[in-house]
Amino acid sequence: MSKSQKDIKCSFCGAGKLDSLMLIAGLDAHICDKCVGQANEILAEELTLKKGKNIQSAVTLLKPQEIKSHIDQYVIGQDAAKKVLAVAVYNHYKRLNQKIGKDEVEIEKSNIMMVGETGTGKTLLAKTIAKILNVPFCICDATVLTEAGYVGEDVESILTRLLQAADYDVTAAERGIVYIDEVDKVARKSDNPSITRDVSGEGVQQALLKILEGTVVNVPPQGGRKHPDQKMIPVNTNNILFICGGAFDGIEKKIANRLRTQTVGYKVKADDSEIDLKNLYKYITPLDLKSFGMIPELIGRVPVITHLDPLDRQTLLNILSVPKNSLIKQYQKLFEYEDIALDFDKEVYEFIVDKAMEFKLGARGLRSICEAIMIDAMFEIPSQKQESKNLLIDIEYARDKFEKSDLKKLKAA
Ligand code: ADP
Repeated sequence: MSKSQKDIKCSFCGAGKLDSLMLIAGLDAHICDKCVGQANEILAEELTLKKGKNIQSAVTLLKPQEIKSHIDQYVIGQDAAKKVLAVAVYNHYKRLNQKIGKDEVEIEKSNIMMVGETGTGKTLLAKTIAKILNVPFCICDATVLTEAGYVGEDVESILTRLLQAADYDVTAAERGIVYIDEVDKVARKSDNPSITRDVSGEGVQQALLKILEGTVVNVPPQGGRKHPDQKMIPVNTNNILFICGGAFDGIEKKIANRLRTQTVGYKVKADDSEIDLKNLYKYITPLDLKSFGMIPELIGRVPVITHLDPLDRQTLLNILSVPKNSLIKQYQKLFEYEDIALDFDKEVYEFIVDKAMEFKLGARGLRSICEAIMIDAMFEIPSQKQESKNLLIDIEYARDKFEKSDLKKLKAA
């Protein structure tokens, strides 16, 4: 017996009992502690390699045109912004995969500024992109931010959101994408560097600058104010892509002014008729952002500027029924649960869009108008015994319900 114990050897390296700390027995073989350790290392290496390949494959899987055609399913029009975003996201992945050698070119990130009227799809674009990404993504609102020490949220709270989106995996968060909404609300309030501190305007821009620049920021893991007892998580923002969005209300005037002043200088080109007055946003330059009250240092950190077109009648019509989860498709889904096939007359679409334009509500208004038309049906039908399995909303029904709704009263007031 004791002899056979002595004969036991590791089936992998041949080490005997005396050469190893421990020999673990399997069904028909043994393994020593050293071989277990080695096997573990090989496994870990293989797994990290696979993880890396996943990100690599995302690059090969989704080319900019494919990213755009995915967004096309959800967002109507806005081709300029879609193109810029698709390329930016694609390059973001490339940058994440770059191996920086000694003399190699280092790809720098290009943060993006999206400018367009409210309700034209800025947030929708950001959200849609988030769906196809395999990096952490978060959306935050610049209106709640204030300079450190004042009532409101510190700028670092943006990174808290990103950390949360990454399940507190700091390495993952450091490769993430952040969408900062309503960034125009932190514009400098007046041209004078004022006597009172501008804590929610310029102060926030200065603080944002640090984060956008690429630095190590100490982030409070639960958000809220920093305090001495809280354990901070250092996050390097070098590889985080920032997309900013804002309506920049009134910036059209500044663009128009700039275009007109240029006209004097360049008389030949200078014809107003060449300028698309209905969509001045498309001529936006960093100069206009500066005259709106963004500080030059921040503008410099967001080098790619793109615009969203105002929504015209045809676009609104398409928004109503074309996207994968359009309003009409959502109502049809709701009625499907009652086993009812819901349909609308084409004139009803036109009616809804006309009202949205009349009320100047844009795409956001489409939902309230649909809701006004559909509320009674949604309230009554679930409790009724239905003979017919079809429900057709015609123009008379739509008009009648809308006239009786609160929306109509709102207009009268
Ligand atoms: P913004 O962020 O520019 O103020 P949103 O993205 O929040 O506007 O748009 C508001 C709503 O309007 C969206 O939820 C969406 O239903 C609709 N919408 C706006 N623009 C579009 C568009 N181009 N394509 C499809 N839906 C749109």
